[in-house]
Amino acid sequence: MTRLWHPFSDMTAVAGHELVLERGEGVWVWDKSGRRYFDATAGLWFCNVGHGRAELAEAAGAQMRRLAAYSTFGDLANEPALALAEVLAARAPIRDAVVFFTSGGSEAIETAAKIVRRYWAVVGQPSRQVVVVREGAYHGMAGFGTSFAGIEANAAGYGDLLPGVVKVPRDDAAALGRVLEEHRGRVAAFLGEPVQGAGGIYPPPEGYWAAVQNLCRTHDVLLIADEVVTGFGRMGRWFGSERYGFEPDLVVGAKGITSGYMPLGYVVCGPRVAEPFWKGAAGLFRHGYTYSGHAAACAVGLANLRLLENERLVEHARAFEPAFAQALRRLATHPAVSEVRTAGLLCAVEIVASLAEEPGFGDRILAAGRRHGLLTRLLLGRSLQVSPPLVIGQEEVLTLADALRATLDDLKSMRSSPK
Ligand code: PMP
Repeated sequence: MTRLWHPFSDMTAVAGHELVLERGEGVWVWDKSGRRYFDATAGLWFCNVGHGRAELAEAAGAQMRRLAAYSTFGDLANEPALALAEVLAARAPIRDAVVFFTSGGSEAIETAAKIVRRYWAVVGQPSRQVVVVREGAYHGMAGFGTSFAGIEANAAGYGDLLPGVVKVPRDDAAALGRVLEEHRGRVAAFLGEPVQGAGGIYPPPEGYWAAVQNLCRTHDVLLIADEVVTGFGRMGRWFGSERYGFEPDLVVGAKGITSGYMPLGYVVCGPRVAEPFWKGAAGLFRHGYTYSGHAAACAVGLANLRLLENERLVEHARAFEPAFAQALRRLATHPAVSEVRTAGLLCAVEIVASLAEEPGFGDRILAAGRRHGLLTRLLLGRSLQVSPPLVIGQEEVLTLADALRATLDDLKSMRSSPK
């Protein structure tokens, strides 16, 4: 019997039925029986440079032999944390930014929420506490993040959550305008993913983010981009905000900064919001985590950035996007598919509702995928997640599309065969 309580799982079904993964290389992973799977999701949207990178293991090992970690509270620091903050600030889509490190995306969301609320309190507008979020959003699983959940199931069942959260439809800038009007003087920030990920991979309509930015500026509301998925090359740019042409006040991220080789999250904060904390009257900011600025995690972040730069993986993601889209959009004509959505190296293969509503559909489609050597998962509703490591090439995307097609074919035959 297993004693590992799996996240996001029903242990009555999972205990004793685990798929134990053992190693990985590039876009591939192997289970302990030696079966190979195409990693269609880059782990959990994180493995941008692909699996099995010795350079990252070496960076972690070298730092751990010197000093694995030490608190960065107060005046304490370590070289990798200082250096990574420097290069991240230089890469970030905000001019003259500063960086706060966390252990992952959820902590980064909590940090951003506390920074913006503290900011407004310190600059004399303590009534600005509302955070506006979007339906379908995923902003992590901690206290603020659960309250910000636009995927309703993720917030249900825990009793009262935080007040002061207002939700707007995903891609409706006019609705945001109305909410900002209605809550005039009480909104601290608007928070959104440049491309909504866990909610089903929905690229924004043309002009959406420019309109959001204008509204935020008009109403003096801070704009927070949750780039946990879209940061570090996934969109063919270093950050999704660049791709959609807006400059947030804060950027929240994690995952791709280390390609998942070590847990690490961050908040990049622009000069306006940083100022009261760095030069003004905010006083001691009583917030931070044991692993904020973890030396070995930051060393891996630096080595990961070097890989992305030396191998020009962000440029590759940009150049490869049309071929990626073409290979996967062909699946749109499959009878089991209602829509294929792509943006950058993200793709959702949405299954027709009549199939997806059948009992046991989720387990069946994922099992079919595994039979065809494909490891993926279902996003909210009924979309298969496709977000491979950025090292994917032409031959591999065709292999991936073939495996998806074979999986979809199985669904059809399951349906027509008598039960
Ligand atoms: N924000 C977004 C957009 C995410 O997709 C995720 C995780 N998938 C998070 C926040 C939370 O990150 P973590 O799981 O590292 O806490």
